[in-house]
Amino acid sequence: MIFSRLQRWQLPATVFGLLLTFLAVMTHAESAGGTEDAAEVTSPVILIHGGAGALSKGRYSAAEEQAHRERLQAALDAGFEVLLRGESAVQAVTAAIVVLEDSPYFNAGRGAVFTYDGRNELDASIMDGATGNAGAVASVTTVKNPILLAEAVMSQSGHVMLAGQGAEQFAASLGWPRVDPGYFWTQRRWDSYRRALKATAADPQAGAQSGSPSTNEHKFGTVGAVALDQAGHLAAGTSTGGMTLKRFGRVGDSPIIGAGTYASDTSCAVSATGWGEYFIRLTIARDICAQVEYADRSLADAAADMIHKRLPAAGGDGGVIALQADGTYTMQFNTSGMFRGVRSKDEQRVAIYRD
Ligand code: ASP
Repeated sequence: MIFSRLQRWQLPATVFGLLLTFLAVMTHAESAGGTEDAAEVTSPVILIHGGAGALSKGRYSAAEEQAHRERLQAALDAGFEVLLRGESAVQAVTAAIVVLEDSPYFNAGRGAVFTYDGRNELDASIMDGATGNAGAVASVTTVKNPILLAEAVMSQSGHVMLAGQGAEQFAASLGWPRVDPGYFWTQRRWDSYRRALKATAADPQAGAQSGSPSTNEHKFGTVGAVALDQAGHLAAGTSTGGMTLKRFGRVGDSPIIGAGTYASDTSCAVSATGWGEYFIRLTIARDICAQVEYADRSLADAAADMIHKRLPAAGGDGGVIALQADGTYTMQFNTSGMFRGVRSKDEQRVAIYRD
């Protein structure tokens, strides 16, 4: 017997040791079981938009429509792959938006609309629903991917928003290569700028409304994304060239936290597109999340209240994509169409019209 060879005083110590070993084995088994608990890994979701506006069928040729759809799909895939790798919602949002900024088909990055004096001035913002941190840039002209600079403002500057030259200098201080402003120029946007300018000259009233949908051909094209990562965190981001014929220095809703972009794990993540002045006045993104958080409204009802009631009642138009930490989402717009898409483990689709 093992105990017979032990000194008397050694017996309690040995029993105690065996007990500790037993407890250690049990504890390890429990924690191993814990880490395998699938419920702790959230199923990731990403939604994107490429702007809302007068997008009725027939506006685009089949080839143009296909090109838009392919870019939307590429953006969804880029963001979703980031989520599948277990990276953050913030990283997924930036990955998806970079694809859309680099595409000439959308009004963000390359392909941005022109200001009244024929320049491209870009706005972007991002918000991390896990921490409540946010970053934004306004009126930048030489930064290839404004969403990445917004992210850098959030993670590296200690500020929330940098505008104009200050934003450009911040990019330079990070050692980022800059692009010539001509990089953002596209023939298509230049043609609509020229048309809008002509219409303004013919109608002084339109000039006073510079940047309104009447001079904007009722088509926007801003881009945005909201994502839910495997850790259960939300993020939202938006990037835009603004509105055709906007005044020099005009800043829209896209870089304004609470207006064009908002994210909080406790309520929702929203990215908006539309006539920015109204989204700012109504703080649409934050209002939707506040209705969810404080008034216990469903996400779809809260978005409908803003997009189908309060926004048109105020005189504006546009749409939103919105997502909650349980994966519930909604995409709503009061225009004839909105470039949009969703990808999750159960769903994969892109759409343009009311279909
Ligand atoms: N909301 C953007 C702005 O007003 C425009 C858009 O969504 O297309 O700058």
